[in-house]
Amino acid sequence: MSISSPLADCAPSEERILIIYTGGTIGMEVSSKGLLPAGHFDKRLDQALTQLSLPERGRLPVFDLMSYPTPIDSSTATPANWQQIATDIDTRLSDYRGFVILHGTDTLSWTAASLAYQLQGIDRPVVVTGAMQPLGVANSDALENIQGALHFAAQPALQEVAIYFAGQLFRGVRAVKQHTEAPEAFASPNYPRLGARVEEDFVYYPSRGLPHQQRGAPRFELPSYSHLAQGEVIRVTLWPGMAAWQLAAWLNDDRVRGALLELWGAGNIANDPDILAAIAAASGEGKLIAAISQAPQGSVHLGAYAAGHELVEAGVLSGDGMTPEAAYTKLIHLLAQPLTEAERRQQFVTSLVGER
Ligand code: ASP
Repeated sequence: MSISSPLADCAPSEERILIIYTGGTIGMEVSSKGLLPAGHFDKRLDQALTQLSLPERGRLPVFDLMSYPTPIDSSTATPANWQQIATDIDTRLSDYRGFVILHGTDTLSWTAASLAYQLQGIDRPVVVTGAMQPLGVANSDALENIQGALHFAAQPALQEVAIYFAGQLFRGVRAVKQHTEAPEAFASPNYPRLGARVEEDFVYYPSRGLPHQQRGAPRFELPSYSHLAQGEVIRVTLWPGMAAWQLAAWLNDDRVRGALLELWGAGNIANDPDILAAIAAASGEGKLIAAISQAPQGSVHLGAYAAGHELVEAGVLSGDGMTPEAAYTKLIHLLAQPLTEAERRQQFVTSLVGER
């Protein structure tokens, strides 16, 4: 893994930003099989920066670039990749004033959510971004996204993991990918944006940042995710007609240690005793089971309807208004740590990093 400094400058590293390039469309090149992850990102970024006006270039914070040896399409990312990025930030924390992670958009919000749990209490910005079009392609959004991410990564008041995309800054653990083509590919359904580009300025709204008790002194939690990277936590989105045996087939598997259920509306599930029995049995075995809604906005209120009330009795935890990304990565994070079942359940329903 090499670190290069595309903007030659003698600024000490504590005044620099570290960009970590992990792959994704932003750095892909056209091949006969379609877009493929590609290397030599430093040279291509250097070239792209020449498109900026001199004043724009002059305003960019100084940065170093670290490229992963094998850039990936983020659709192949696993919890092990989330852990790798968090570890790379942790080992370089005091060397840089902020971090920019260049990532594929497909699972960008999953990585951002996971980083938020691993880097609890971070006292500087970590800004994750990507692009819908590769850097260097006509009308690509890549350069603007990198520019914005760098500007926000240089703002010391921002002390959390955020996503910058298409002029908007979102809390990382609140964002979802909402579009497969448009440059405005991300949204934050249940929390206002943390900042925005306003003409040439990149404006952070501090009143929406994490409160002081949730940040300040890094108290990172970096447990190994390696034993949770093979499907040990499942995600089940209900569909009309889902049969109890289908849910039981997953929940009863001994390898499964946790499950995220995506319910109807405010927290409903079919009134089928066999479905509830499958959930209760898994929960009774100590599997960590949580529920959110399939509806992208609003929260679940387990117990508002009789059908949902039985879920509470079966041991299902309310995921409130969390995104699937936030709820799933939290299950992974809690299961990876040496906690008791009671501690895991308590932490799941507590806001750790502004995720709920
Ligand atoms: N498949 C790509 C990825 O997630 C999509 C993108 O980056 O936009 O790596």
